[in-house]
Amino acid sequence: MTKDEVRRRLEFYRDLGVRTVYRREGHAADDEHKAAEDQAAEDQAAEDQAAGGRRQAAAPAVLPVVLSLSPAHDNLSKISEDIGDCKRCRLHEGRNRIVFGSGNEQAKLVFVGEGPGADEDEQGVPFVGRAGQLLTQMIDGTARKEGIPIQRSDVYICNVVKCRPPENRTPQPDEMEICGQFLFRQLQTIRPKAICAMGSTAAKALLGTKEGVMRLRGKWHQWRDLPVMVTYHPSYLLRPYNQGAKKEAWEDLKKVLHFVYD
Ligand code: URA
Repeated sequence: MTKDEVRRRLEFYRDLGVRTVYRREGHAADDEHKAAEDQAAEDQAAEDQAAGGRRQAAAPAVLPVVLSLSPAHDNLSKISEDIGDCKRCRLHEGRNRIVFGSGNEQAKLVFVGEGPGADEDEQGVPFVGRAGQLLTQMIDGTARKEGIPIQRSDVYICNVVKCRPPENRTPQPDEMEICGQFLFRQLQTIRPKAICAMGSTAAKALLGTKEGVMRLRGKWHQWRDLPVMVTYHPSYLLRPYNQGAKKEAWEDLKKVLHFVYD
């Protein structure tokens, strides 16, 4: 593993809340590390001896079991396979279909919503109901008006949770945490040029903030090393009393599209 890969792996663990990792005993790469460490310890001991034995040699490194949470060469099929017939949280009880994600697997732009609704649960595809139709119009319409030659099929769309919450309620923190690991793997695999977080659940999952969308929207944030734009969830824009927010959502989308495709 290169230094960069190790760093990314550790960041992945950190985002899952893991604070300590241990090296696996007996692994070839570990043996190399161990040999280097032993050599360093020997050098240190020799140095200590030369210094008159005043300092103690460093204690040998402990090598318990490694927590292996992410496969080395991850891809979307592997992630979907790992989700399997998921029963990790209570949301599986009411679902018909797991809604993994759809679109261009090499997309430069990924949209993240909250969780499937009734239509998505039935079809197994994200954003196909009323909110989805609005999202399609927004992507296709804004791109056309701005002279950017893309449409919905060029981006990737997924959700924080992959199963429909009962009565479309907001996903609970433990559900977001459990399913969030798969969202993070999707994002890390696709590594788009930017992510658009739609609504407060997506913003919370990616940015770890409790700040509301009104404050976060229209500005660039970051998930790991990837830029994140927060905007309103399309369902919010469908409500008659939120029509004023549509203009802002279109501005946010223009910003993202120009950033990614100019
Ligand atoms: N709302 C979401 O957040 N996701 C969908 O897939 C559909 C509606």
